[in-house]
Amino acid sequence: MDIFTTIYFVALVIEMVIRAPINKKRQQEKMSKRLVTTQEVTLLLLLLSGTVVIPIIYAATNWLDFANYTLPVWAGWLGVVIGAAALFVFWRSHADLGLNWSPTLEIREKHELITRGIYGVMRHPMYASQWLFVIAQPLLLQNWIAGFLNLLVFIPFYLLRVKAEEQLMIEQFGEQYHAYMQKVGAVFPKM
Ligand code: SAH
Repeated sequence: MDIFTTIYFVALVIEMVIRAPINKKRQQEKMSKRLVTTQEVTLLLLLLSGTVVIPIIYAATNWLDFANYTLPVWAGWLGVVIGAAALFVFWRSHADLGLNWSPTLEIREKHELITRGIYGVMRHPMYASQWLFVIAQPLLLQNWIAGFLNLLVFIPFYLLRVKAEEQLMIEQFGEQYHAYMQKVGAVFPKM
């Protein structure tokens, strides 16, 4: 495995380590609302393939070698820098969102609207970190399939998810969320 592929898998493991304690704790949480659609589950499964399954096939077999490309070394290191930024934002968003995090759209009984920390800079830092991750991926995994599949799936996922999530947050928090939207940008800080 080349250095950039190795770094990709190290980053994945770091994300799992950041998420694991919250994922474990939230099993005991009582939920008051859950929105799961077949469309979203399909996109989540495709994202899991693009993030984990296909990269493992790319790294462990030669099945995808026909789609390899080679970038200059600086592009690989650019991927490392973008990936590191993704990890930083991923870590901060988990630290600030805490038990309010969920893989599908959910409202817990004790749900709290978080607007502090990195949520004071953008409304969707976790998705911002995912954007950075899917942009870093084709620089690290230099293969048309393993590098780009995730980016391709993430675009529709992001558009559908953010729309449904913001609707849910408005139902739950009303004016408070409207005011938050006025003040704080989605994935870019407002100037
Ligand atoms: N969109 C956010 C959170 C992703 S996790 C981000 O990118 O960082 C998805 C869950 O987070 C949703 O089920 C929703 O209930 C919850 N959520 C989203 N924004 C929130 C906020 N500002 N405060 C509390 N919970 C939030």
